[in-house]
Amino acid sequence: MKKELIMVGPPASGKGTQTKKLAEISGLKHVDTGSMLREAVAAETEAGKIAKGYMDKGQLVPVEIVARIIKERLAKDDCKNGFILDGFPRSLEQAEILDSILAEIDKDGDADLKVVYFEIPVDNLIERIVYRRSCPDCGAIYNVKTMTLKKEGCCDKCGAKLVQRADDNEETAKSRFNTYFEQTAPLIDLYDKRGKLVRINAAGTIDEVFENLKAVIK
Ligand code: AMP
Repeated sequence: MKKELIMVGPPASGKGTQTKKLAEISGLKHVDTGSMLREAVAAETEAGKIAKGYMDKGQLVPVEIVARIIKERLAKDDCKNGFILDGFPRSLEQAEILDSILAEIDKDGDADLKVVYFEIPVDNLIERIVYRRSCPDCGAIYNVKTMTLKKEGCCDKCGAKLVQRADDNEETAKSRFNTYFEQTAPLIDLYDKRGKLVRINAAGTIDEVFENLKAVIK
């Protein structure tokens, strides 16, 4: 049966890191709307130019833009055997859009949808965001406060110079948390009522959380 996973949790709760690891061992396609939007911003497409203003403020990009991006992405061949959504849906309105996309692409009814909720106290997450760096070449994510890198400022996996996301500063991070609690957190109740929600303790080390994740998605 085709697996479809949705990762839900506050900013910097580890969704991206865990999804990358899971995609590597499962063959499920990692679909990350934040990265797709950052690519559109960097390429200065029409959608990217509009998205940038919202992303810089820590707000949700207009739903029409995200809906189009995600619809096109999920229709591609590499999603046919299943996917992991990281960063979508992010509101009740987007959940409805996803319902209609899935109704279209899963007509044969052979899909198993699970929503993984990353449970974690939010107190230290702003600090995680401020110290987060990522590799522009291979996508690896690091915390430069807690991790010792082989060469300072460079990716341990491929050696590229690490970069900081434009929205990984304290002010924008605070706004991203408000957006999360107001617009995204209601998804937890929605998917719980539908019997689709599984919870994981996301407060441990990367390896511990990964074990928790693998245990719930079997
Ligand atoms: P992320 O990389 O998931 O933290 O997303 C970074 C930013 O991209 C968010 O703060 C939003 O501005 C935007 N974004 C990502 N996914 C969505 C989405 N599903 N809907 C609206 N905006 C999004």
